Amino acid sequence: MMALNAMQIFMQLPKTNCGKCGFPTCLAFAMQLANQKTSLDSCPDISDAGRGALEGAAAPPIKKVKFGPAGAEVEIGDETEMFRHDKKFFHPTLLCQVISDDDGDLEGKASKAKDYEFDRIGQVMNLDTVAVRASGDVGKFKESAEKVNSLAGKPMILMADDAGTIEGAARSLASARPLLYRATQDNWEAMAGLAAELKLPLVVYCEDLNGLAELSDKVKGKGVGDIVLDFGPTKLGDALRNLTILRRSAIKKKFRPFGFPVLLETSATDPGLMGALGVAKYASIVLFESVPVSTIYPIMTLRQNIYTDPQKPLQMEAKVYDISGPTNENSPLMLTTNFSLTYFIVRGDIEKSKIPSKLLVVDTEGLSVMTAFAAEKLTAEGVAAFIKKLGLEESVAQKSIIIPGQIARMSGSLEEESGWKVIVGPRDSSGLPKFLKTQTS
Ligand code: SF4
Repeated sequence: MMALNAMQIFMQLPKTNCGKCGFPTCLAFAMQLANQKTSLDSCPDISDAGRGALEGAAAPPIKKVKFGPAGAEVEIGDETEMFRHDKKFFHPTLLCQVISDDDGDLEGKASKAKDYEFDRIGQVMNLDTVAVRASGDVGKFKESAEKVNSLAGKPMILMADDAGTIEGAARSLASARPLLYRATQDNWEAMAGLAAELKLPLVVYCEDLNGLAELSDKVKGKGVGDIVLDFGPTKLGDALRNLTILRRSAIKKKFRPFGFPVLLETSATDPGLMGALGVAKYASIVLFESVPVSTIYPIMTLRQNIYTDPQKPLQMEAKVYDISGPTNENSPLMLTTNFSLTYFIVRGDIEKSKIPSKLLVVDTEGLSVMTAFAAEKLTAEGVAAFIKKLGLEESVAQKSIIIPGQIARMSGSLEEESGWKVIVGPRDSSGLPKFLKTQTS
């Protein structure tokens, strides 16, 4: 179904311009709704008939799909943009390890998947899901899926090419709400029947995109509302083309058969390159046959960067941080901004000195030192007020603060505003270890 335009939406609204939706007129609300920038629920006065007529327009271009046990479920889809800088991407690509049910190290891999974890600039990154692939033995598949579910403790994907193989595991683990993989042109009726009965989401597969659209509609017609699209393993160029067509069709053309999240397989080429492509270009799940740190860590880093809000850089809480152990009233106090990357670089350089220090992080809306200073987000008045607000004169005996050399120009005004002694530090924080040693010797 094609989405309605703003005027068609407007015709269904009460036209009272009451403003309860947060917009001054019904037409303004209609324009925002047509662009998926607001929700139909924001208008409390719409009639049932109007609501019914607008359901299609209110539906997101890519449906949100959830799987995994209640309380630990993961969400994919519900994206509205082609390009991150237009607004933001909302649901980060899930990274998934595939384990075959005949893998001799099945238990070891499942346990490792649970503990797979990296900390980068204050955010913990994990493997999100685990998939179990059937090798042909129905009983073994069920037993392996149950084992992996209990050891990995993550949302699961059950992978088999026929409903007869997947059914036992799907019924056994139905309360863990696994994602079923996959309906094909040969098995779709049985797979869709099982998914509809158990109310589980289902991967729909066809190598050809025309066939994928047809199959998506057929599966939906069988009562499966939560679908994930899959065009199978392919070369990088073809994957990029397919991912772009699917996303563009869903968002720009509102083509409903493609209005679902996409799963990407990496087995046909370099998994690192394919995984990076999937994260950058619209895949909601990426499957990996193996998960070496050298492959996964760069992809997690890329994902972290792509799925932040471009208008809100990663930020630290504005406060005083103790670094290199407990500090006391004679420990040096340094100043930086709350841009996460800046904080962690400065922190690392202070740690190299091994001198317990205090780092005053001020709120600059996530801007780095020079940018914040130029934009007047880092001012003498603001820093002085924050020092006062935190009551630092009680915990810093010498009442002195070291500022980055890049903002040496602020030293005079900060001394005037705060009454503190201002020491100009090195221009680059890499000079801090040597600088701190001279200050404290
Ligand atoms: Fe119009 Fe509904 Fe908004 Fe009121 S709340 S202005 S009736 S769209």
